[in-house]
Order: sequence, then C-alpha cells, then structure tokens
Amino acid sequence: MNAAPISPAYVPAQPEKSVTKPGDLAIAGAPPAFAAPLHVGGPNVGDREVFLRHVGDMFDRRWFSNNGPLVQQFEQRLCEDLGVRHCIAMCNGTVALEIAIRALGMEGEVIVPSYTFIATAHALHWQGITPVFADIDPATHALDPLAVRRMITPRTSGIIGVHLWGRPAPADELQKVADDHGLPLMFDAAHAFGCTYKGRKVGSLGQCEVFSFHATKFFNTFEGGAVTTNDDELAEAIRLMRNFGFAGYDNVIHPGTNGKMVEICAAMGLANLDAVPEIVRINQHNHALYSAHLVDVPGVSILPMSEGEESNFQYVVLEVSEDAGVTRDALVEALHAENILARKYFWPGCHRMKPYREMFPHAGLVLPETIRVADRVVILPTGTSVSAEAIATICSIIRVVVERGA
Ligand SMILES: *Cc1c(COP(=O)(O)O)cnc(C)c1O
Repeated sequence: MNAAPISPAYVPAQPEKSVTKPGDLAIAGAPPAFAAPLHVGGPNVGDREVFLRHVGDMFDRRWFSNNGPLVQQFEQRLCEDLGVRHCIAMCNGTVALEIAIRALGMEGEVIVPSYTFIATAHALHWQGITPVFADIDPATHALDPLAVRRMITPRTSGIIGVHLWGRPAPADELQKVADDHGLPLMFDAAHAFGCTYKGRKVGSLGQCEVFSFHATKFFNTFEGGAVTTNDDELAEAIRLMRNFGFAGYDNVIHPGTNGKMVEICAAMGLANLDAVPEIVRINQHNHALYSAHLVDVPGVSILPMSEGEESNFQYVVLEVSEDAGVTRDALVEALHAENILARKYFWPGCHRMKPYREMFPHAGLVLPETIRVADRVVILPTGTSVSAEAIATICSIIRVVVERGA
C-alpha cells in the first residue's frame, strides 16, 4: 500500500494576486485572482495505483458489471464503515432514490424539503408522486418536524428528510412524526457520507438512507450511489429492483430497472475510501480557515457543522445577512469575476423551479424560512484542490467586497 492516500499528481490552485483594497478586485478591472476556474467541489482522487490495480484485475477477469467482485467488496466495506446490515450500490444517487422510494411503496404525496438538490423532488415527480414541500429550520437548514406535521394530508404516503450539507436532519423527531401517522421515513444522505447522528454513522436512520458518490461529492465513484438499510426484506426488494427483478438466469420475480453500479466505479470507490480520512482532515482544516478569516467580517458568517457530531466538512456554507454591506448576488458576481465559482446552492428552492412552480404556485406561502435561507447562502470552494493561500485570498476578497459595499 502507498503511504500517501491522495494522488500525488494533484496541485492545489494558487492565487495570482493579493487583495487589500477595492482597486485590487476583478470587478474593478484588475486581473482575476485565479488563472483557471476554482470549483466548489473539484473531484478528490485517492491513490491512482490502487485504482489501476483494481482495473487491471477487472480486465483479467473480464467481469465489468452485474454485481461483480469489486462491487461486492465495495458494498461490504460500506457496511463495515457505516455499521449497517445492507448496502446496495447503484449507478447514481438519483436512481438509488427512485428505487428506494418505490420499494417503500410511496405514492400520492410525499413530504420533502424544498431546500435541497432538485433530484430529491425529481425522484418523486418522475414516478408520478407529488412532492409536498415543508419548511426548514433556519438555524440548521434541515426539515422542521413541526412543518412536516402541518403538511400531512390523507394522501401522504411518506417523508424524505435530507441531511443537508452533511448536518444530520432531526431524525428522532421526524421518526416520531412518521410513527404517529404510520408513514415510512427515509433520508437523502447524499451529503452525509461519514457524518454522525447522535454519535452513530448516518446510514441506518429511518427505513433506509440514500447516498450519492457523484464526482462533485467529497467521496466519489465517478458516478454512483447506494441505499443502506437494516431491513432485510427491503434490502432484498431493492436488490431485485436494481437488476430488472431477476432472480437467477431466466426468472423475473419483481418489476425492476437498471440501477447497477459497474466494476470500474467500484474500483474508484475502493481507492477513494482509503483516502476519506485524509480528505475529511483537509476539508475540516479548510472549514476552520474560512471561519477564522471571516470571523470579524460584519454581516457574513460560516454555518458551523453540527456540534458534537463527526462531519465530512464537504461544504463551506457562507450566509450573507440582509444587513451586510453587499447583497448575496453581488458578492457571488464579484467572486465569479475572480474565477472563484462560488454557488448559490440550492437557490431558488425546488418549489420555485419551473416544474414545481407550476404545480404549486402558492408554495412560498408556507416556506418563508426556505426562501430566506435560499436567498442568503453562498457555497465556497473546498476540498483537496484548494490551498490555504487560496482560502486566504478568497476571504480577503469577501472582506473587501463587503467593506466596499458598506
Ligand atoms: C448529488 C445529490 C443527489 C443526486 O445524486 P446523483 O448521484 O448526482 O444522482 C441527490 N440529492 C442530493 C441532496 C444531492 O446533493
């Protein structure tokens, strides 16, 4: 095994200038701070040698898909790491969500946050299920259990919580709501790989949890996802649905689709799993640097990760308050001019995206906190491709833009 789990061919971006006054800003005509675009989630890559060795074995076996040995090994590793009985690896997080939703028998209406990546809502809509949006707690950005309770109707068939930014949703309170109404509860855990809830790894909350290993997630398999659960029967149904419902060569016993993870993605997953502790260490360090640099800039703050829990620190969430010297959108514009591709995740909220806006023109009336949070958040670049010098420069740009605005 290589001692360095992160691929050595990786050179973090360095800033091209320092910024101390408005005239240094790209929006004032100065050259941009970065020569190439700095993305919020540049892919993290583990040891390439480990990956290539697995790929070599794969070619020797000529077994590329259909529950191959690398996928089996990957699922086994995830079960051990997350302390959960079953892991079913999939081609991506969205198909994993769709299959989990169907396996839980959801139909009619399902309650979800509007403040999430669009895939959470689409996975329902795509299957003829109506996503009903409930409001969030502005302090945590997670689904508010009281708001969920208010949105339940006789047509409600389930609840999907989202562990946004890796901060665990209030699972016990949501479970209480679900139990009171006899509803299945599942979680979109796309942001929460490696995070804990009350000291336990996310992965066995609710009936099942769904992960994404997309290239932009801090832990990736190029594209990929998984459903994890402690429910034996549910796991069996999900396994069947992932592979057209096949039980043996000629026997189809369940409706299904093609949700299989391929071997080369599992090879990437196995190589990157070894690097996860190091990537988290870097993310946590980056998060602390941003927080320290920005602590005295008025009107902006970094959302802390959950106190007392482990986090993967994969998102640096900046909140721009209404009384800051600059609007959120003007700050994003100034950062983009510097080649810092900060993002307004998940603005404007699913309910204000065309397919759902037309379905629920008045949804905003019950989503005041969603609207306020979506209008003030900026996600900043982090991960292994962002150096300490880059973070110092990004923060000095934010400081000068905010102070100039004021
Ligand atoms: C990334 C993401 C998904 C979708 O996962 P894919 O693997 O890209 O299909 C779903 N939900 C959330 C919250 C995500 O961030």
